[in-house]
Amino acid sequence: MPAAPEIREAIRAGSWIRKMFEEGAALKAARGAGNVFDFTLGNPYGDPPEPLAGELARLAADPPPGLHRYMPNAGFPEVRRAVADSLARATGLPFTADHVVMSVGAAGAINVALRALLSPGDEVVVLAPFFVEYLFYARNAGGVPVVVDTDPRFQLDLAALERAMTPRTRAILLNTPNNPTGAVYPSGDLDALDRVLAAAEARFGAPVYVISDEPYRKVVFEGVEFVQPVTRIRNTVVAYSHSKDLNLPGERIGYLAVSPRAADPGEVAEACVFCNRVLGFVNAPALFQLAVAKFQDLPADVSVYQANRDVLLAALGRAGIEVVPPGGAFYLFPRSPLPDEMAFVAAAREEGILVVPGSGFGRSGHFRLAYCVSPEMVRRSVPAWERLGARLAGKGVNG
Ligand code: PLP
Repeated sequence: MPAAPEIREAIRAGSWIRKMFEEGAALKAARGAGNVFDFTLGNPYGDPPEPLAGELARLAADPPPGLHRYMPNAGFPEVRRAVADSLARATGLPFTADHVVMSVGAAGAINVALRALLSPGDEVVVLAPFFVEYLFYARNAGGVPVVVDTDPRFQLDLAALERAMTPRTRAILLNTPNNPTGAVYPSGDLDALDRVLAAAEARFGAPVYVISDEPYRKVVFEGVEFVQPVTRIRNTVVAYSHSKDLNLPGERIGYLAVSPRAADPGEVAEACVFCNRVLGFVNAPALFQLAVAKFQDLPADVSVYQANRDVLLAALGRAGIEVVPPGGAFYLFPRSPLPDEMAFVAAAREEGILVVPGSGFGRSGHFRLAYCVSPEMVRRSVPAWERLGARLAGKGVNG
C-alpha cells in the first residue's frame, strides 16, 4: 500500500467516473456510436482557429533562437507584456508584465496561486456546485476547502459567504461563467462580494484573495453581460486559460495575473513565480506561449455552443426537465426529474444519453450535460430526449 491513504481514498471516491466511462464505452459497442449521445466531457468542440494554426506553422518553420531553452520562470517577457496590454485594454486597470505569470493552463495557475497564498490549515472557500478539482487543488497547497452553496439559480449567496469568513480564510475560488452551471455573476453581486471580503479583511486583519478562474471568459452568449471580477473585486488573481477560447486544452497554456489594485501585488506575483518553479511547472510551454501571444484579443467562436444550448433547452423543456438557462460556458445543470439522480442517469442511459450526476459537483438532485459536441449529435439526440420525457411521464422509471 505505498500510495498515501488520502490519495487512495480520492481515487476510490472518484471511481464512479471511470465506471461511467466504461458503461458509456460498452453502450457504444453494443448499440453503435451513432445511437449514443455522450454529453459527459468538457473538451471544447472543434480545432484551434485557422490563424493560430498559421502562427504555429510559422514558428515551427522559423523558430526564434533559443526557443526551446529554459527561460524566466514567469515566462517570455514579450508574451507577458502582450497579456498585460490585453488585460489593461479589457479592464482599464494598469496591468504590466510584472503582474503576469504564464502558466500550465488555468489548472496550473490556480495551483500556483493557492500555493503562493496559503499556509497549512488556511481555508479556501469553494462555491457549490463546483469544478471538482478545486477540492484537490486547495488540499495540494495545504488548504482546507470550505464549501458554500450558491442559491437555487446558482448565483452567489452573499449572506452565506459572509458567514463562511473566518480568521483562517485566505482565498475564494470564483468561476464565472461557471462549470458546471453556466451561471454568469452580475456586477452588483461582484461589488457586494468585494464588500464582504473588505469587511472580513477589516475584522480579521488579513486580505482574502479571489482567485478568479476564467477559462470560459470569452464563451458568453448573446444578450448576457459578463463582467470580469477583477474590475470589481480589489484582491483578485485572474487565472486564465487558452483551453476553451482557442481549443487548446492538450497544450496546457494559460496565465495568472495579479490585480494591480490588490494588496501587495508585487509580493504576490513574486511568490507565484517562485511557486511556478518549485511546484515543478518551471515555466509554461515555450512554443505555445509564443503562439498565443498575438491572439489575446481574439473573440471565441461561440456560435456552435449557443445553437447547441438552444436546441437542448427546447428538448429538455419538452421532456419536462427544469433547467436554469446558462449565460456562458458550455454546460447545462438541470434538476433531476427523479428524486434519485442516479436513477435518472440510468434511465437516460437506457435512451442512449450519457450525462454526469450532480453529486460529483457537490450538488445532488441535478445532472450535468456538456454540450461542447457536434450540432449534428445534438440534433440526433432530440428524439432520445423525447423518449426519455415520455418514459418519465409514463412513470416507467422508479426514482
Ligand atoms: N477551471 C474550470 C472551471 C474548468 O472547467 C477547467 C477545465 O475544464 C479548468 C479550470 C482547467 O482548465 P485548463 O485546461 O486551463 O487547466
